[in-house]
Amino acid sequence: MRLGLKCVCQLCDSQVCETSGDGACWNSVMLVDGREETLKSCLSPSQMRGQVFCYSSPNVSKRNCCFSDFCNNETLRLQPERPLESGDSSRLQLVAVIVVPSCLLCIGVALGALLVQRQHCVYSRARKHEPEEALDEHMLMSPDKCLKDLIYDMSTSGSGSGLPLLVQRTIARTIVLQESIGKGRFGEVWRGKWRGEDVAVKIFSSRDERSWFREAEIYQTVMLRHDNILGFIAADNKDNGSWTQLWLVSEYHEHGSLFDYLNWYTVSVESMVVIALSVAGGLAHLHMEIVGTQGKPAIAHRDLKSKNVLVKKNGTAVIADLGLAVKHDSGTNSIDIPTNHRVGTKRYMSPEILDESINMSNFESFKRADIYALGLVFWELARRCSVRGAVISAIVTFNFSLSSINGKYFHAGLHEDFQLPYYDLVPSDPSVDDMRKVVCEQKLRPNIPNQWQSCEALRVIGKLMRECWYANPAARLTALRVKKTAAQLSTIRDVKE
Ligand code: ADP
Ligand code: MG
Repeated sequence: MRLGLKCVCQLCDSQVCETSGDGACWNSVMLVDGREETLKSCLSPSQMRGQVFCYSSPNVSKRNCCFSDFCNNETLRLQPERPLESGDSSRLQLVAVIVVPSCLLCIGVALGALLVQRQHCVYSRARKHEPEEALDEHMLMSPDKCLKDLIYDMSTSGSGSGLPLLVQRTIARTIVLQESIGKGRFGEVWRGKWRGEDVAVKIFSSRDERSWFREAEIYQTVMLRHDNILGFIAADNKDNGSWTQLWLVSEYHEHGSLFDYLNWYTVSVESMVVIALSVAGGLAHLHMEIVGTQGKPAIAHRDLKSKNVLVKKNGTAVIADLGLAVKHDSGTNSIDIPTNHRVGTKRYMSPEILDESINMSNFESFKRADIYALGLVFWELARRCSVRGAVISAIVTFNFSLSSINGKYFHAGLHEDFQLPYYDLVPSDPSVDDMRKVVCEQKLRPNIPNQWQSCEALRVIGKLMRECWYANPAARLTALRVKKTAAQLSTIRDVKE
């Protein structure tokens, strides 16, 4: 292992960062709104193992990793556009006549082979290699690998932080996009097919390269993988000559976000507890620091909300959209990126974020703000809990009429329509000021209906949310505490019924 490296760092107060062991200095330039923007910083050894960061695309985004002190001091420029030379057109013709048909032929043969090989995919796990076997890119990309195999390889590989660059890129470039499934802050999310299996592809525009980079970096944090955190598969930057498309590939969950799910369905007491336990479990894992050489830093999400939780087929849930997350470096008691006061979604901002009293030099503050948002997500979930639980309301808009028409199947009493927190107190796209007046000045919180007292699970969940949204951040529960209480809930009588 090499000694630590010092690098130029535009993101650091001192303009210098230090990376331990096998890290690198990083230098990049990209086009943002037609202007070249450079970024210089350190790459940690775990980022190096993920390797997405050293890859350059010639015209739009150039990156350079180097390995001596301050080697990233030079200022990178993008290549000026080259006019088409006379030789180029005959070269293009040659490509069109010879290379393209040969490539098509090769792809055809490869696809045929793939189809045959896919039959073996299900069996391949039975003869899986030992975890200690070296992670080999060729082996990983053998055509009989399916997603579960790759994810298994990822979690047993030495780094525990992600697949090698070549594998990530190969996966990303063999995905066929199918349909757009979501839109958020950045770009668009698509369902894609990889070797016949569904994957989700979040596409960022080159303008949002930093967000792409950041989210890929967070997902490749060592030891981050968890049943209740969205399973990251690959990051790739595809340059098509005139722009770069930035992809994040993850496991696909057909139920979509918890927001969508609760809009469409009510949940039984049992599934409410399963979802609550999943979200608390995912958050507890994010927040937890694991000490050791293969340790994990504490991470705060900073944008927890029902749209950033996805519901899995088996009824559990995962936390997604880690683009705004921050990591804590407990060695230096610092946060890994400069933070500003207000990021995230206004409706879910904690009182101390809204009135700017948050103490950003203490990492606990970010975790406590997440807990406040967790309480709001629990409230959205609990409102849709149908105590008898047997019937799912198909379309919420018709909820009222359905429940009166089909009264004998439908337990109309104990669930309410889906609403976002504070729906009755602020406008639909509230400003920080709207939120501050309600949450800080009037000290209001979402209403906890009296009926919840008649069901043990709802009563406990109601109590949990109150303890998550105290005005005093230090008084709030920890994610681990919430998780433990939710876990106890799954053993009580009216949940198992
Ligand atoms: P943004 O950073 O733009 O908010 P998100 O990662 O939150 O992007 O995704 C936006 C929306 O896309 C989500 O609210 C959800 O509806 C959908 N989505 C995202 N990832 C997946 C996935 N893996 N499976 C299914 N739907 C997804
Ligand atoms: Mg989102």
